[in-house]
Amino acid sequence: MVNTANAQQADVGVIGGSGFYSFLDDVTEVHVDTPYGAPSDSVLLGDMAGRRVAFLPRHGRGHHLPPHRINYRANLWALRSLGVRQVLGPCAVGGLRPEYGPGTLLVPDQFVDRTTGRTQSYFDGLPLPDGSVPNVVHVSLADPYCPAGRAAALKAARGQDWEPVDGGTLVVIEGPRFSTRAESRWYASQGWSVVGMTGHPEAALARELELCYTSMTLVTDLDAGAESGAGVSHDEVLRVFSANVDRLRTVLFDAVAGLPAAGARDCLCVGALGGMDPGFRLP
Ligand SMILES: [Zn+2]
Repeated sequence: MVNTANAQQADVGVIGGSGFYSFLDDVTEVHVDTPYGAPSDSVLLGDMAGRRVAFLPRHGRGHHLPPHRINYRANLWALRSLGVRQVLGPCAVGGLRPEYGPGTLLVPDQFVDRTTGRTQSYFDGLPLPDGSVPNVVHVSLADPYCPAGRAAALKAARGQDWEPVDGGTLVVIEGPRFSTRAESRWYASQGWSVVGMTGHPEAALARELELCYTSMTLVTDLDAGAESGAGVSHDEVLRVFSANVDRLRTVLFDAVAGLPAAGARDCLCVGALGGMDPGFRLP
């Protein structure tokens, strides 16, 4: 049982679809406002694997927000304001190599930003509603994902006999359209692994708030350059995602259980600001 004082707090955050929280009992729904506006939806707090977890539907319940319209800054800020320090971000992607077919679980260790119109920093020099002004801060993103979170995700997948791909590069495109064949072949020729639409700026913003962030990508289709058929269709993506959502949820829960305990983080994410004054108070 969780006491009232903790009911609206969590230490782990999950940004993903309704398949990950809709079956939980005793969910507390919290509306959170942020200096950047409203997050994608209310945050749903529940108990899982002995942890208090905050779920945020990335596209909103009902999936009304396309990837390029998601308020990523509000989403990460909202989670941190509830006490979250470690975030898991499952998402659907296209495979850029024939061997990364539908049903592949890949835990990337790098990403490439190919988005074009997204606010991707809290350090934009613009005053917040409380009058504070962000300083100019450059965080390191050489290793964009939390090593402890990646290890927990990989171990969880192996524990379910779902051998994951350990590492790889996630290309994040603006969307909402899928890639052309030429784009897709170009990404593949660079040695990149999978392509999605939501991984950036999620990971970068998490780092700016000194949050641990781990991406878990589920391949739902081969991208246009890696297959010879009619190209990616939305229906195909939804079909493969629903066929895998149960086991992805199980892996996600095991990964949550395997994360470092609250307050016991010992990774590069914790000191991402290197003691620099962000110019505003982290939530
Ligand atoms: Zn970390």
